[in-house]
Amino acid sequence: MEIIHRVDYRDSWDKGLRNRLERENIKYKISEDFNKKDGLVVFNISESHPYWNRIEKKLRGFLGWFVYGDTVDTCFSDAEILNSEWSLLYAQNAKKYPEPFNTWSVNPNNYDQFCNKCGTHIQARPFRIQKETNWGNFHFFTFIIGVGIFTRKQVFDVFRRNRIRGVVRNDVLINHTGKPADDIFQLMPDRTTQGGLVIGEKVKVSTCRKCGNKKYPNHGRGAMKYRREPRLKEADILYTNEWFGSGGRVAWREILISNKVSRLILEKGWKGISLKAVEIV
Ligand SMILES: [Zn+2]
Repeated sequence: MEIIHRVDYRDSWDKGLRNRLERENIKYKISEDFNKKDGLVVFNISESHPYWNRIEKKLRGFLGWFVYGDTVDTCFSDAEILNSEWSLLYAQNAKKYPEPFNTWSVNPNNYDQFCNKCGTHIQARPFRIQKETNWGNFHFFTFIIGVGIFTRKQVFDVFRRNRIRGVVRNDVLINHTGKPADDIFQLMPDRTTQGGLVIGEKVKVSTCRKCGNKKYPNHGRGAMKYRREPRLKEADILYTNEWFGSGGRVAWREILISNKVSRLILEKGWKGISLKAVEIV
């Protein structure tokens, strides 16, 4: 596994850093800021990169001043995923919005018991979308706001042929007609675990003052640890009982997939998805 840091900072706060990144062959993106005088610089660096030690000192030294943003993530090799009994499934390829676009983020029309403080919810109705999608080479997408993994009919056909247990093919509705899209479906586990997340001492769990639900921060470094619990025997695809997400109105349950499912995903080479190994303890 490789630990990756996504670092972001305002260009004016460290004028020399972009030159140093160029010298070290580290690619960055710069976006023009709202005031058009400054830019937000974003780059990814692995902890195995020779420049990491020097950049780390900088981040540690200045982080308290909020000069640099640092988000930690972990990349697993295909071999590590194939060796892992369970993995986490993430859709990438975020290009679309749920409809109705104007109100969805404050009042999601498909959720019941939506807590507008922490974002926990029960999905009671299908997501709505503007129009059919042109899949191109991709097999999965997620929304820019909101949670959910969306895929094609052919993926469910493969799941059915391979007797993948615990997954529901949920319709997605075209907003202006109210009819189901032909080839967009939400991949939804039909059950959750009983709860088996193992967290380190330093992990801060937040309890919502409004609804009382607990949320765990997004898991970034290394493999998530999960206890072997009875529900893992019942299905190949499951929601975690635990909610994740830092800060306001966004909350999701992670999706656990068995080795049988991750093997299929890698064999088929489906795009628009990423997998992270889980350590079962
Ligand atoms: Zn809440």
